[in-house]
Amino acid sequence: MDKKELVKQAESHLQVLCSEIGERRVGSESNRKSTDYVERKLKESGWQTEKTCLSVIDWKTDGATLTCGNQHFEVSSSHYSLGCSVSGELLAINSITQLENSDIKDKIVLFYGKIASEQIAPKNFPFWNPEEHRHLISVLENGHPKALICATERNAASAGGVYPFPLFEDGDFDIPSVFMKDTEGEKLLACAGQTFQLVSSATRIPETAYNIVARNEEITNNKSIVISAHIDTKIGTPGAIDNGTGVTVLLLLAEALKTKHFKYPVELVFFNGEDYYGAPGQVKYIEQHAGRFDDILLNINIDGAGYMEGLSVFSPLELPEEMMEILHEVLWNNPELAEGLPWYQGDHSVFLQQGCPAIAVSSKWFIENMECQEITHTPKDNLSIVNYERVAECVIGIVELLQKL
Ligand SMILES: [Zn+2]
Repeated sequence: MDKKELVKQAESHLQVLCSEIGERRVGSESNRKSTDYVERKLKESGWQTEKTCLSVIDWKTDGATLTCGNQHFEVSSSHYSLGCSVSGELLAINSITQLENSDIKDKIVLFYGKIASEQIAPKNFPFWNPEEHRHLISVLENGHPKALICATERNAASAGGVYPFPLFEDGDFDIPSVFMKDTEGEKLLACAGQTFQLVSSATRIPETAYNIVARNEEITNNKSIVISAHIDTKIGTPGAIDNGTGVTVLLLLAEALKTKHFKYPVELVFFNGEDYYGAPGQVKYIEQHAGRFDDILLNINIDGAGYMEGLSVFSPLELPEEMMEILHEVLWNNPELAEGLPWYQGDHSVFLQQGCPAIAVSSKWFIENMECQEITHTPKDNLSIVNYERVAECVIGIVELLQKL
């Protein structure tokens, strides 16, 4: 495999995905353009493709305004929230205890401080949903406030590099909400008890999105290897490292493997919904494969690969001894690849939870700076931070691994 040629192909795919198409939020026209592109490229490389339709919502806003008399405050519609045009008394709340002991009916509730420090898991998110979050949602739903204003600080661990971040990002939660910077929230605190007007011009639009699965040979009674990457992005980012590079690695593998057949057949899975509130593509895939996860020998998931700084990492997760040895051999032969620490915020978790071992492919820098970086889910995640050679090296490493398994 010629590395130069892989680099050239990587540049061309990433140009289409992150520059011509750009943001690929689930439910958008551009998201469908990206799955169409992937499907076409797979077919050109001779792979059989399967397209699964997902019922999702797209979401749009014409902005939000918050006023109290002649004072204006800067707010944004929370992603996937319903819109609203309401007027009510402002009640400021900073803890769950205070929330439990307050009458919030018909109030506009300001969340600030501790209660607004960590993004709340979407109501129906299947992979991570702490008890405190479900409790918070149920107290709110039973309390019937008119709307929520969330003043948030920076929290890279829960919301990527976005500041302020939407505390709620949930198309299944029906109390309208907006968000603002913590510093703006402090100004608002001084006006608690006064009557505010809040308008958020947001709408939910029923739409479709697709998972794409590809095979280059019939999967018979042999175990298979599933290589996956998510194709969607958050709202407001062209998603180069998260996860245009992952999609590109899969497309390069499709081309590289078109004439190669190893001991285990390969399935390429382009998930739609890793960065979306309900993870619809992942849920659908689990549904479709119920009872058949035992047939998957290994998942290799690519997310966050190809960053300009540092090496690429292959993180082993629950790998049996013999696979671990093979991985070490591959890493030894490819000095640009290193063994990474375990991490779980990606689609490899879908497989781990079903009892399949996995390897998560990413960039060392991102794994080590997950809690403090300011790039993920922002416009900064664009092609200027991609190292195309790193992308090609991930492909070379994965092909060698497949050969040895
Ligand atoms: Zn991702």
